[in-house]
Amino acid sequence: MPNLWMPGATRHAIGNTGAMHGGPARAVWHITSNAKDWTYKNELGWFTGDGREVAPHLLWDPFTGEIAQFFPADSRSLSLQNADTIKTNRTGKYCIQVETVFTANETVNGQRYATVRDTPCKNLDQIMAWLRSLGIPDTWPGGAPTAFARDTVSLSTWLGEAGHFGHNQVPGNSHVDPGPMPNLAAIGKTQTTKPSTGQPKYEPFPGASFFRTGHRSPVIAAMHKRLVAEGCGRYQSDAHADTWGSGDERSYAAWQRKLGYAGADADGRPGPTSWAKLHVPNS
Ligand SMILES: [Zn+2]
Repeated sequence: MPNLWMPGATRHAIGNTGAMHGGPARAVWHITSNAKDWTYKNELGWFTGDGREVAPHLLWDPFTGEIAQFFPADSRSLSLQNADTIKTNRTGKYCIQVETVFTANETVNGQRYATVRDTPCKNLDQIMAWLRSLGIPDTWPGGAPTAFARDTVSLSTWLGEAGHFGHNQVPGNSHVDPGPMPNLAAIGKTQTTKPSTGQPKYEPFPGASFFRTGHRSPVIAAMHKRLVAEGCGRYQSDAHADTWGSGDERSYAAWQRKLGYAGADADGRPGPTSWAKLHVPNS
């Protein structure tokens, strides 16, 4: 028996539960899209107060990771319009609706965020783990939302297929949220990486003092090769490729300019960021 209340969510049961109609389990994604850019706290007050007639299951702040839950999973929630006689809030065994505290192009801490996909999506892994525990597959039967526009699925898709839907895809509804979303299938899944050989693939930054005139090392020879491969070679010859000198400085400066650095940031002296991007193989 799955947990009907999401572990990690703050429980704000508002009563007024209603039975589901059964069928494939699904989740429906929304954004609160508030002209006043309401915060999680404002939205929590709304959905437990005057807005309780349109409350979702979950309220999620993708910046702070705060999550509130208003209905148990086996109850309908209230954020959808009906499609004529079809009570869309009740479609499926579960129809978990998530209101993301987000408005397109909103500014948070001085940074502008165009879509939910651009936010930190904090604790989305916890939400996905819970939805998976309810048997909701990671797929989007109507395709993942790509724009703030209607993309209504057929009634047979809505009634017959399990997975994730945007509010913009639900029949009988007019809203265009949630807009582009992150790749849900990748959330909370550990990256498959090749077994480690115990040695990092690339040479770690050896420190600024490593790059002094006359210093000799196979690391400098490996760097020399990489700079040439990147089209940044400004060497007069490949002799003494393992010894730091003025040709290295000219070539490294070309690499820094290639990365977009200018002025004192393109002085030919390696720093940890430009070094990491150069991918100097372990020598
Ligand atoms: Zn919505």
